[in-house]
Amino acid sequence: MKTDIEIAQQATLKPIQEIAENLQLNEEDWEPHGHSKAKLSDQLIDKLKDKPNGKVILVTSINPTPAGEGKSTVTVGLGQALNKIGKKSVIALREPSLGPVMGMKGGAAGGGYSQVLPMEDINLHFTGDLHAITSANNALSAMIDNHIHRGNELNIDPRRIDWKRVMDMNDRALRQTVVGLGGPKRGVPREDGFNITVASEIMAILCLTTSLDDLKLRISKIVIGYTYEDIPITVKDLQVEGALTLLLKDAIKPNLVQTIENTPAIIHGGPFANIAHGCNSIMATKTAAKLGDYVVTEAGFGADLGAEKFFNIKSRVGEFDTDAVVIVATVRALKMHGGVMKDNLKEENLDALNAGMENLKKHIETIESFGLPFVVALNKFPTDTLAETDLIQTWCESRDIDTALTDVWENGGAGGTHLAEQVIAKTEENNNKEFNHLYKLEETLESKMRKIAQKVYGADDIELTPKAKEQVTFYTEKGWGDLPICMAKTQYSLSDNPTLTGRPTGFTITIREVKPSIGAGFMIVLTGDVMTMPGLPAKPAALNMNVTKEGKVVGLF
Ligand code: ADP
Repeated sequence: MKTDIEIAQQATLKPIQEIAENLQLNEEDWEPHGHSKAKLSDQLIDKLKDKPNGKVILVTSINPTPAGEGKSTVTVGLGQALNKIGKKSVIALREPSLGPVMGMKGGAAGGGYSQVLPMEDINLHFTGDLHAITSANNALSAMIDNHIHRGNELNIDPRRIDWKRVMDMNDRALRQTVVGLGGPKRGVPREDGFNITVASEIMAILCLTTSLDDLKLRISKIVIGYTYEDIPITVKDLQVEGALTLLLKDAIKPNLVQTIENTPAIIHGGPFANIAHGCNSIMATKTAAKLGDYVVTEAGFGADLGAEKFFNIKSRVGEFDTDAVVIVATVRALKMHGGVMKDNLKEENLDALNAGMENLKKHIETIESFGLPFVVALNKFPTDTLAETDLIQTWCESRDIDTALTDVWENGGAGGTHLAEQVIAKTEENNNKEFNHLYKLEETLESKMRKIAQKVYGADDIELTPKAKEQVTFYTEKGWGDLPICMAKTQYSLSDNPTLTGRPTGFTITIREVKPSIGAGFMIVLTGDVMTMPGLPAKPAALNMNVTKEGKVVGLF
């Protein structure tokens, strides 16, 4: 079997100019970055504002295994399939982070015959957006430390600085650091630490912004810490919103590439799906909706994390509708939810599969509770048996649930045409007449958290630690109570305990901590242990990677 990189390297790419021209873009609408990548103008949405929007299709999934269940693969495959049946589709995806690329096996550019290209570039430095975000984030850290060193006019309490430095790598050694050591000439010592770049608030901001002006406004509102008198200190107080926005003036522009089958794809932004909202940028999705009749986009992890945030944060801020949802399920993840251990997932096990269907059922109920039409996409793996795929399809059919067996990984767009036809029918169905957000912004922070926990996770209730209670009171007093909630929870379980697979019941969600993300415009709510700087595994994927003397990339998945 060929690897993803081998398949990618055998594909024939069209010049990016041809992809841009097929989208009826003019010269001023885009700029080339080499032969096969381009940046789209950040003014494009505004220029096309009177053009009707294409239908927005969100791809989400059940709770995944650590290997991922093929959301990106199905997103790319569905985009290709729509194209194949004569529809004008544009894909909108997140940019991969170097941390997971070097760490776990598996990139974020799809897989098999449903990939976005050039996958080597997309998975590595791409057009430099993540580096720009890293620089902007760290420029702010440098400004903070310099301000304190130069007399601390703002009276910032060095013990209460929440703003951390970032790096786009999994590097556990940097989680907690002390900076400013070495005497008076080297600054004021204080505790600091590093997050991975995709956990930076600047990444979340870039993904929720709608223009350069809005970007600057959001950056100015970032709260970096507090004074000795508990007064929040913002970027505006430090007067560096202009410089930070300047560092992001190109990163704000969505990136245009193509798939293996030359379907246009806009790849832009990639925030964490736990401590941030886990979706590509609003600018990418909205631009794609102006350029295509159908936009296929995804949200990170399962519907309990990514999709909930897509509806309650991204599409609320971006003011756009979702027309249909695809819920990706796999035999292997459903068997895991039925109690099978990771090492035995390749063996047929119908009893476990049947038991694991409860997980899918919960995610279906969640999408129904948002009032949106959906299709279940069964992402077929080479190890699935006919009896297993039949079981899932019969389960769905007996409940009048539309389902499509897709093999876009093996066959590209041709493997997803049945799914594409079903999805098109769904987009005609309700036109958002029944869509409802789970909560109103003016509800209390606690009420919003409770609604997510009970309605999306199936919890009995929430329980706040004394620290979290204090924070809720403090932040509400500061006037931040009407922001949406961004829950940070394990992706492996509907609960806050990663070992509770399937559809757990009778559990309480413990709210450990609340963190304001005022520039991004949401309150992060931490449940369980959520890492903002991952570590590398015992055998990082980096061990397989190489480059030949001719510059050919080897072993990148
Ligand atoms: P997600 O977006 O859900 O994290 P991805 O689409 O990135 O998942 O897929 C994760 C990995 O699984 C990738 O390496 C991809 O090539 C592989 N994969 C996805 N679907 C299939 C499939 N049907 N058969 C075999 N491998 C697959």
